[in-house]
Amino acid sequence: MRGPQLMTYKVSLQDNQRQFEVQEDETLLEAALYQEIGLPYGCQSGGCGACRARIVSGEVEYDYDPPALSEREKAEGYALLCQARPRSDLVIQVEELPDHHAIQVRNMPVRVERREQLCHDVMALWLRLPKGEAFEYLAGQYLDFLLRDGRRRSFSIANSPAEFRRTGLLELHLRHVPEGSFTAHVFNEMTDRAMLRMEAPLGGFYLREDNERPIVFMAGGTGFAPIKSMIEHALERKLDRPMHLYWGVRARRDLYMSDLAEQWQAKNPSLRFTPVLSEATEEDQWPGKRGLVHEAVAEDHPDMRDLDVYMSGPPVMIQAASKQFSSQGLPDGQLHYDSFDYAYQTWPDKEASTG
Ligand SMILES: Cc1cc2nc3c(=O)[nH]c(=O)nc-3n(C[C@H](O)[C@H](O)[C@H](O)COP(=O)(O)OP(=O)(O)OC[C@H]3O[C@@H](n4cnc5c(N)ncnc54)[C@H](O)[C@@H]3O)c2cc1C
Repeated sequence: MRGPQLMTYKVSLQDNQRQFEVQEDETLLEAALYQEIGLPYGCQSGGCGACRARIVSGEVEYDYDPPALSEREKAEGYALLCQARPRSDLVIQVEELPDHHAIQVRNMPVRVERREQLCHDVMALWLRLPKGEAFEYLAGQYLDFLLRDGRRRSFSIANSPAEFRRTGLLELHLRHVPEGSFTAHVFNEMTDRAMLRMEAPLGGFYLREDNERPIVFMAGGTGFAPIKSMIEHALERKLDRPMHLYWGVRARRDLYMSDLAEQWQAKNPSLRFTPVLSEATEEDQWPGKRGLVHEAVAEDHPDMRDLDVYMSGPPVMIQAASKQFSSQGLPDGQLHYDSFDYAYQTWPDKEASTG
């Protein structure tokens, strides 16, 4: 319920003339999603920058300086919609996500149908939804587990929507984070048939099918999960676009589903797979690419003007790649990413507000 006595401001999207209202205590993103205006976002904690927008006119304020917004960007009129609160009517410039309306964010219990350890530090979970519940998502989106103490943990859905419709199961790939409370629980204590609560689908990281450009997919570690969903979706839809998947991990043992990626490549002439190891060991006897995955992409694609790039994984990879790819001509609108931030931990107001 929205409070009646708070100031309400009007936000206009410059490019398509749509408007929505936002109260002084809401973030622009919260208000937009509440009113079913699909704006891009990722971590929802100011850490990833996926919700960056240009303030054409008006004033916003932050509780904290969001880490993903530099002073320079602020001075140039940019804002992060997941943290910015209005202090006047606003006109903003940002891409509205077209498919958003069809898809409803749901909050529901899920049951762990199966767990399988995919490698030394990655566990796959398959979740079953309550019988009769309709659920839809776009390939690449993620879910939040709502934990009992009020905290949330985000994980990308790793199977395609069509596969979910066939099996009724959502697949996740969870990396065991050292000292990580939730992933330690999943690895050490969780039993099959455990019940969890999720909010989903979330995020603006999904495959755009409205153009014919070749696609580069770049995954870091379990960043493979949403990319797997997108590639399965693209192959099911018989998308006629060249696709090149780069998957960066430390050592060979971290390539937890390389057989699947090899199969995609063997069966689909339009798809290439390049694994890249950053810390290959001697026993890996690695014949392939070495180094940082975004450097391998950059080297293979010196001119990125006519590519679409989808990338997901650790924040350091996302930041370094965004900079590098932009310097090689990749337009902002052709770069899509999910940064696996974990900033909910470090933002006290978020902790409080989800509690
Ligand atoms: C949109 C989105 C999608 C995501 N999808 C996936 C996914 O598909 N698979 C997956 O494995 N992860 C994914 N993540 C990351 C995952 O949500 C976090 O790693 C989560 O915090 C782990 O929960 P935890 O309770 O085990 O660790 P926490 O208790 O949250 O963290 C414990 C400590 O480890 C640090 N930490 C937490 N996560 C990481 C990390 N990833 N790298 C380095 N240090 C970390 C924290 O700062 C803290 O100090 C995603 C994140 C986002 C924002």
